[in-house]
Amino acid sequence: MDTNATKTHIVIVGGGFAGLGCARKLAKSDDVRVTLIDKNNYHQFQPLLYQIATSELGSGDVATSLRQSLRAHANVDVKMSEVMVADPRSRTVTTRDGQSYQGDFLVLAAGSQANFFNTQGAEQYSFPLYSLEEAQRLRSRVLAVFEDADRDPGLVDKGALNFVVIGGGPTGTELAGALADMINLTMPREYPELAVKRAQVYLVEHGSTLLAPFSVEAHEYAARALQRKGVRLLLGQAVTEVASDHARLSDGTVIPSRTVVWAGGLMASPLADDSGLPRGRGGRIEVQPDLTVDGFPGVYVLGDFANIPGADGRPLPQLASVSQQCGVWTANNILAEIAGKPRTAFHYHDKGIMAMIGRDAAVAELGSKRHELEGPIAAAAWLGVHAALMSGVRERIEAFIDWAWNYFGKVRPIQVLDRSDENRIDWGEDVEQKVTH
Ligand SMILES: Cc1cc2nc3c(=O)[nH]c(=O)nc-3n(C[C@H](O)[C@H](O)[C@H](O)COP(=O)(O)OP(=O)(O)OC[C@H]3O[C@@H](n4cnc5c(N)ncnc54)[C@H](O)[C@@H]3O)c2cc1C
Repeated sequence: MDTNATKTHIVIVGGGFAGLGCARKLAKSDDVRVTLIDKNNYHQFQPLLYQIATSELGSGDVATSLRQSLRAHANVDVKMSEVMVADPRSRTVTTRDGQSYQGDFLVLAAGSQANFFNTQGAEQYSFPLYSLEEAQRLRSRVLAVFEDADRDPGLVDKGALNFVVIGGGPTGTELAGALADMINLTMPREYPELAVKRAQVYLVEHGSTLLAPFSVEAHEYAARALQRKGVRLLLGQAVTEVASDHARLSDGTVIPSRTVVWAGGLMASPLADDSGLPRGRGGRIEVQPDLTVDGFPGVYVLGDFANIPGADGRPLPQLASVSQQCGVWTANNILAEIAGKPRTAFHYHDKGIMAMIGRDAAVAELGSKRHELEGPIAAAAWLGVHAALMSGVRERIEAFIDWAWNYFGKVRPIQVLDRSDENRIDWGEDVEQKVTH
């Protein structure tokens, strides 16, 4: 007899920090069975995506198999499929291949996607950095422009080595620092015949500061650290157009570039679109303090997919730690409901925020305390904080080896260029035919 069949069934959409956190906690209860559905067969560690894009880490360092993470629990079933429709009234979801899953409880934790704010050409030509696939695609582009320019140095005049990062929040700031390090420390040794010195990273931010969620001092520290690395900061500028070969700014400046990275904003994943659930800022689902949705019994919405009210009533930020904690909280609320006890309002335990600005500078803030860290200490502290969020021991060990290799050897160990057609760059008709002697 299937002992799971009589248990309370919880359907979870999304195996990110929120969904996986919830599944893991529920898995420990004998009273429930869980179906976890994700379009990928892995959990991705988004805080490290920029290190994939800059060849510091390999895909296996940031992706953990969902099946392996949950294999010890017979009451959890993992399904790899994209959920196309969520019906919160019946707590049923339907996947791309037509399968339906109905739960006594439905947990939606489908995360975010890039928000291009209708910027002309941005969706088509820029490189967002919100998933492992996107990070791998960006890595291939960064490596491809160096390879192409090495064969044809004339391409440098066409902006081959200009990298434009849009958005000066933590993602854009960390990526700009890592790209600058790659250009300054690694590429001159690997492309001795190429004028790598002409490579330029631009960081475009429409606000007046970098790292907006941090303190004023941190804004200034980040700006100084990036300028030291040669990054050109274009603050107070919006990007009005992205094309295959340039980015145009609000003051009319045109920067020739084949690598325009979009780190300019997030919105809820498309699953939110026709869900019929109430939506707020960023298209995210509005939830009550206990993470349920008003008028939809048994439905919980978590992580980046939700606007979660904080203690002061303002929405909590889209952070891995928020998502992870609300996943566990939801599991506890579901178990309370099953036991006939009341749900409780989510309380976020804020452990602070941290950003790495290249290999040797970081800023960490916990409440009113700010720490500016330099050199190996900065890298070590950042690694320590992020290792705590990583799910697997193997991932931690592998990531540490790659980091150490990169830090002390100034090499980029994972220079994997995917030469599939979609990654090939069309440099235009006027590329000269050249004979190399
Ligand atoms: C580049 C980057 C850097 C970041 N750095 C930091 C940092 O340093 N510190 C920090 O705390 N936070 C950081 N964040 C934020 C943090 O990663 C997110 O807040 C967190 O990942 C959100 O967790 P989540 O579970 O809500 O969503 P996700 O982690 O995005 O997980 C959503 C899951 O849902 C799946 N999914 C989506 N749609 C469907 C569908 N229709 N059907 C099936 N499955 C679906 C996805 O495949 C994914 O596995 C960063 C984010 C990015 C993008």
